Amino acid sequence: MIVLGSTGSIGVNALNIARRFNINVEVLVAGNNVALLNEQIKEFCPSIVVVGDKKFIKDVSFNGAFFGEEGILEALDNSKSDLVVNALVGFVGLKPTLKAIKLGKKIALANKESLVVGGKFVDTSNITPIDSEHFGLWYLLNDRKIEKMTITASGGSFRDTPISLLKNVSVKQALNHPNWNMGKKITIDSATMTNKLFELLEAKWLFDIDKLDAIIETKSIIHALIDFSDGSTTAHIANADMKLPISYAILGEVKEQILKSVKLTEVGTLEFREIEIERYPIWEIKDDILGKPHLGAVINAANEVAIEQFFKKEISFLDISKISLNAYKNFSDFDPTSIDDVFMIDSEVREFIKKRG
Ligand code: NDP
Repeated sequence: MIVLGSTGSIGVNALNIARRFNINVEVLVAGNNVALLNEQIKEFCPSIVVVGDKKFIKDVSFNGAFFGEEGILEALDNSKSDLVVNALVGFVGLKPTLKAIKLGKKIALANKESLVVGGKFVDTSNITPIDSEHFGLWYLLNDRKIEKMTITASGGSFRDTPISLLKNVSVKQALNHPNWNMGKKITIDSATMTNKLFELLEAKWLFDIDKLDAIIETKSIIHALIDFSDGSTTAHIANADMKLPISYAILGEVKEQILKSVKLTEVGTLEFREIEIERYPIWEIKDDILGKPHLGAVINAANEVAIEQFFKKEISFLDISKISLNAYKNFSDFDPTSIDDVFMIDSEVREFIKKRG
């Protein structure tokens, strides 16, 4: 298989599955963590390697490594494997998703941004999502009539922090997720609830359903629920570990135990909360954006710039959502007719935010 983002949280877990099930790894793609990439090259002996920037090439223990965004596309063109694990983070994942679709490859898609920004133009028929909530929804599907799908949120790093203190929280505090150990960007997205907004958009494109919502379940034991029209509700329960969705996305069928099952008597109690706009201002646009899901491209671009600025300590935590909401208002007329429009709006929104300083 091909692993894009092999040095990240999902990429490393995907390679754990490759190791356990003896799957050949043909392509490894990393950004700048050359030390880990070199270890992976040694263990998995890929035939193609890509690194984020030309300047890293000399340190990569592989002859003829490609580099940069073009390098990822070249690697896909030159590969034989028919499975791509796209575990890149952010907008940079979109072109590889489109390329993999064009090449007729199957995609195990962790890079939710591909669907958030380009869902209207992305053929999902060869895509299996690597996201615990969408995996949970898929697991619950049956032939009965569905009334509504609900995904759960952990509430992120500040779910219990007094709202009055949110304006002064640090990057370090924001990265301290209560339940999941994930990459930095998604951890911030989880704290602002932008991640859940993205997952609703992802669910909309994957399951083609309008009745979608999210609630907080603080232990991340329940990942998804489906209300059926007969009044029954089923819930997907599993420990918080991405190896389960990754295994299904890579293997298709899973016959061995991947995780220990949840012992409800050990869990004891579960707590559910509404997602409050006061704590998570981005939630203000939830209903609106579900009606105009193509505006995910606007929110994503704004959010990526804002998170970079937050990491550089140029803005505060609460500014991240403010910037996204402001961009959402400013570009509310955006109505793409092709994927090119998506690339164009991405650049425009980034410019707009940078100009405003
Ligand atoms: P990480 O930040 O841990 O990993 C991102 C990976 O992408 C790293 O291997 C990084 O390389 C690589 N990368 C980033 N930019 C480039 C680039 N320009 N060129 C080449 N490689 C690049 O993120 P996660 O693994 O947490 O998340 C990946 C995706 O999966 C995201 O879209 C996220 O929303 C989604 N996701 C993650 C979950 C999780 O549990 N982590 C759960 C569900 C979805 P390097 O580190 O070497 O710079």
